[in-house]
Amino acid sequence: MKLFQEQEIKIYNSLSGQKETFKSITEGYVGMYVCGPTVYSNVHLGNVRTFMSFDIIFRYLKHLGYKIRYVRNITDAGHLENDADVGEDRIAKKARLEEIEPMEVVQRYTVDFHNILNTFNFLPPSIEPTATGHIIEQIELIKTILENGFAYEINGSVYFDVHKYDKTNNYGVLSKRKLEDLIHNTRELDGQSDKKNPQDFALWKKAEPQHIMRWPSPWSDGFPGWHLECTAMSTKYLGDHFDIHGGGMDLKFPHHECEIAQNEAAKGKTPVNFWMHANMLIMNGKKMAKSTGNFILPTEIFTGNNEHITKSFSPSVARFFMLQAHYRSILDFTNNGLLASEKGFNRLMDAVKDLDNLQLADTSSFNVLDWKQKCYDAMNDDFNSPILIANLFEGVKNINQIKERNATITSNDFEIFKSTIHTFVFDVLGLKDAATEVDSGTSKLSGTVELLIKLRQEARANKDFALSDKIRDELAEIGIQLNDGKEGTSFSTSP
Ligand code: AMP
Ligand code: ZN
Repeated sequence: MKLFQEQEIKIYNSLSGQKETFKSITEGYVGMYVCGPTVYSNVHLGNVRTFMSFDIIFRYLKHLGYKIRYVRNITDAGHLENDADVGEDRIAKKARLEEIEPMEVVQRYTVDFHNILNTFNFLPPSIEPTATGHIIEQIELIKTILENGFAYEINGSVYFDVHKYDKTNNYGVLSKRKLEDLIHNTRELDGQSDKKNPQDFALWKKAEPQHIMRWPSPWSDGFPGWHLECTAMSTKYLGDHFDIHGGGMDLKFPHHECEIAQNEAAKGKTPVNFWMHANMLIMNGKKMAKSTGNFILPTEIFTGNNEHITKSFSPSVARFFMLQAHYRSILDFTNNGLLASEKGFNRLMDAVKDLDNLQLADTSSFNVLDWKQKCYDAMNDDFNSPILIANLFEGVKNINQIKERNATITSNDFEIFKSTIHTFVFDVLGLKDAATEVDSGTSKLSGTVELLIKLRQEARANKDFALSDKIRDELAEIGIQLNDGKEGTSFSTSP
């Protein structure tokens, strides 16, 4: 018997607004799609949090024995700046500013994304398709939506006809919005747009002459609308109807609402059984976001090089910090929160090490099987990682009591106890012992640069400015900038 047949999971479904018992469409198999990053800048810690929520879900479903196909895309065709239908494509804008090809932008930030997720010990998805690699599929979808009468072409662009769709279907089914309210709350079109109604969204946009990323299509040389790629790629790899679709809460509307509409318009069925939305990481009371400058980069956490933190933290401590909140709760990023997580993480890791030195006995003074099931119950209840962590600390208490001879455990129970702790700490939560994490290179880098900063200070004190400048300039050449401030010298790295 597989574990998933013993452990019943409940998942909060954004579609129904309730926790529902999870049953996969095909027994033993799960298809999960998660919206990936737009690769026009470095991922910030907020992005990491959302992808981490789904990493835990992927890990737990795998652990339960499901054969899970996890598809997470790379958005490399560029959204328009304001996520509506106007403005410049973000990737093209970055390319223009840096005087490089859009595909160089895409490559640089895809590599950064992978490096960061690797450092955080994420499992790679089963398939990682790109939007630009699926233009043909997107064009085919548009043709079908046009044929089915839910879109119209105008001046080389194609728009989804939300008003017509809403007559037979329900636009707003996911976000619980009503079209009448949307109409009431949106400004009239300014006369520059070709759309029939402001609520309509682009499936295909004709490219202006200066627009670099463009493909031929039956309607014009242009580029696909933002929402279309996810419909094309999710259904290509998971079928027209699959188990789980996830993303950050901010994608629920309009992105996911439009995905549902596109799928229903093209294929006549709703694409997904369970819609899951991860909540936001905030800092100083505001959502962490690139656009507002209210963000912190993962490398700044690993080097301690950011005004919001007093020291560096390892990737596992940052991971532990994020998993101490449930994925549907808002998480406030604070230095104190990280410091507390570091203490907790070290206590957990010390106890895991102590497991190997425990004395065994003829009887167990606590019920290991009950405790093990409590760990599963936590994850079965909509992947409640903070409750799981609380149960693991219950285990830590037991380990310490056994060490101090205030509790006992039999060898049979010990095997179950140890393997459960290892499973949840390493396989499900994806934590790594600090000793193995040094391999990530970040702590080594930070130690080495700190040493060079010290040597430069000594050189300056000795009035050896040739040496101090040499240290600064040669570090700059390899992308490490030294920043002299009132409080001393810090450093930052550029990609
Ligand atoms: P983007 O590259 O902007 O499409 O974002 C990638 C993912 O990160 C999306 O699923 C967003 O919902 C998510 N995201 C963006 N900002 C935050 C945040 N502050 N906290 C959590 N997730 C976020
Ligand atoms: Zn998407």
